[in-house]
Amino acid sequence: MIIVLKPEATEAQIKHIVTKVKSIGLKPMISRGIERTIIGVIGEEDLLRVQPLEIFPGVEKVMPILAPYKLVSREFKPSDTVVQVDGLRVGGKRLVVMAGPCAVENFELLLSVAKQVKRAGASVLRGGAFKPRTSPYSFQGLGEEGLKFLAEAKKRTGLPVITELMDLRDLELVERHADIIQIGARNMQNFDLLKEVGRSKKPVLLKRGMAATVKDLLLSAEYILQNGNFNVILCERGIRTFETETRFTLDMNAIPVIKNLSHLPILVDPSHGTGRWGLVPPLAKAAVAAGADGLIIEVHPKPEEALSDGPQSMLPEKFSKLMVELKRVARAVGREL
Ligand code: PEP
Ligand code: MN
Repeated sequence: MIIVLKPEATEAQIKHIVTKVKSIGLKPMISRGIERTIIGVIGEEDLLRVQPLEIFPGVEKVMPILAPYKLVSREFKPSDTVVQVDGLRVGGKRLVVMAGPCAVENFELLLSVAKQVKRAGASVLRGGAFKPRTSPYSFQGLGEEGLKFLAEAKKRTGLPVITELMDLRDLELVERHADIIQIGARNMQNFDLLKEVGRSKKPVLLKRGMAATVKDLLLSAEYILQNGNFNVILCERGIRTFETETRFTLDMNAIPVIKNLSHLPILVDPSHGTGRWGLVPPLAKAAVAAGADGLIIEVHPKPEEALSDGPQSMLPEKFSKLMVELKRVARAVGREL
């Protein structure tokens, strides 16, 4: 439930309410807005029936959270969440672009892409060390060696790195080498994995499952927040539809829909969303125009030789050109890049 405080509520009154809520065994979370403060309460709300909070000084009203997800909902926290990544802010006015190869293939290639995307204005390096491949005969990733390459590329370029975690057993390893833990589309409903990254201190990028609704995505994010990690970035990466021209159908509706329902930042992945590098620029621009907080884009110097997702990987020069165009779109919608 949400306790909405009067605009003139004092600090002492807020403290009094927080103490009361805690004494009943519930968890209060304070959210300070420009006009007023609200306190979100999670737990067995029936416990509060004995002590109606409406009568506490400073309280304007007490309302239930109607959405099935609580902590991720805008009702619970009206102001946008800004996730801090190594000094970088995801979810603020400035857009964040994460770019790099689909998979870490070797160090030289990773470093050269890292330098190029950094020069173009990207602020996070992406690269998979553990790859979820449809076929067991496809390249499965370099594993720990790939993580070490990512950490070294970070050391040389200063770019924070994001990489996918597929297996609970690799959590510590990924935490040690990466700045953001990516949970891929195929694991969006791996609830044990979600609970575990919920206990991590690292920011998490949660990708929408290819057959998941927005509600499913938000409920999955709830698992992470419920376990204590509020540093969650959502990602729309395309869903399966009857359309066969593109690999997936990038759900542009999801951007403003999620912005309304949740305070969490949302990124868009036009590479997986389309499966074709030539479609990445128009969809990337559309995503920014629709209110996305940033993009995650696959870049490879030799897409035809890439070990995974070559057809959707942009050449570094094409990526640089796109970044220039994106700056103009960002400015047009009141954002920066
Ligand atoms: C990826 O980012 O390379 C990836 C596998 O993404 P998704 O989980 O969205 O398919
Ligand atoms: Mn990929």
